[in-house]
Amino acid sequence: MPLRLVRGEGAKVWDSEGKEYIDCVGGHGVGVVGHSNPYVLDAIFNQAKKLIICSETFYHEERALLYKELLEVMPDYMGSVFLCNSGAEAVEAAIKFARLLTGRKRIVALKRAFHGRTFGALSATWNPKYREPFEPLVPEFVHVDPEDKEGLRSLINEEVAGFIFEVVQGEGGVYPLSEDFLRFAQELCRRSGALFIADEIQTGFCRTGRFFAFQRYGLSPDMVCLAKGMAGGLPIGAVVLRDSLGKLPQRVHGSTFGGNPLSCAAARASIRFMKENSLDERAESLGKLFLEGLKAIDSPLVKDVRGLGLMIGMELKRRSAPYLKALAEEGVLALQAGPTVIRFLPPLIISEGEVDFVVEKVRKVLSRDESD
Ligand SMILES: *Cc1c(COP(=O)(O)O)cnc(C)c1O
Repeated sequence: MPLRLVRGEGAKVWDSEGKEYIDCVGGHGVGVVGHSNPYVLDAIFNQAKKLIICSETFYHEERALLYKELLEVMPDYMGSVFLCNSGAEAVEAAIKFARLLTGRKRIVALKRAFHGRTFGALSATWNPKYREPFEPLVPEFVHVDPEDKEGLRSLINEEVAGFIFEVVQGEGGVYPLSEDFLRFAQELCRRSGALFIADEIQTGFCRTGRFFAFQRYGLSPDMVCLAKGMAGGLPIGAVVLRDSLGKLPQRVHGSTFGGNPLSCAAARASIRFMKENSLDERAESLGKLFLEGLKAIDSPLVKDVRGLGLMIGMELKRRSAPYLKALAEEGVLALQAGPTVIRFLPPLIISEGEVDFVVEKVRKVLSRDESD
């Protein structure tokens, strides 16, 4: 978009002309704790004065405490953490770990899935537009339709290292998967020894109304991939692993910047803010309000409105790009998810009044078009 952003605070951003926007893009879902969150600012500033450079070779306290605090918000059976710098890196690591831990090669993913743009992650991603220019990709990746239980049953067997999924498919168009399908997939994985890998890069850290989306359905993933909103805007990625998977051999994988003191300090501050402000409950209640508000818009342009918590998609019967532009003119920034879906990923600290404002602007933009 032809916008120059210069400043952000809470759920708002301002452009170079001084125009104010409610930010439902939030850096593609990074802005869980809001722009310039005071906990994060303090943590970055204080840590920067103490220590910024420290690689995996040495212990430093921010990393050790982040391991501990991250495991505290995960199920008890989780036991280890690998830190990196982005979502794709987390998925890349999870694929390597799955192959190493099972001695198998094949990865099963879902159609409409998005897992990142590096070669391993891209091989798990579905969209041909992202994949085809870079083929050949990594071998032994297969895709199956979401909700196709029989298809999944025929693919998950003793040769599969892992099954990777998003509880709500984000980039693919904001499609929440059913509890029934995910439980079925988990059961197939348990029986065949394939690892059950949750990509919570977009859904994680309270976005969907639970600390992690898999918790809503009582799922027990073997690995969880994290990134986006984890460190208040600083680059970070993580894979959390089930304790009983055992230790990975030393030095099989690594990252120079992974676990750097600044990102760790920012992540600790973000997680503390999420807990102290119950952002999971907030996303649940404000998400309902937001979703109901959008569903109440009576427009022939709307095909479907769906989502979980504050991860919401409005599917139109037309291309969404002109409506995103019109929304920006009205002071609301939102995202695309596929050609016809408007996606809302606001900071979870967004106020009720701001949600109402966004819903009213969506109503206005959709009705304006009709009269045109
Ligand atoms: C954004 C995203 C990724 C990729 O993260 P990057 O930090 O852009 O590499 C992977 N999986 C999901 C579900 C995502 O939403």
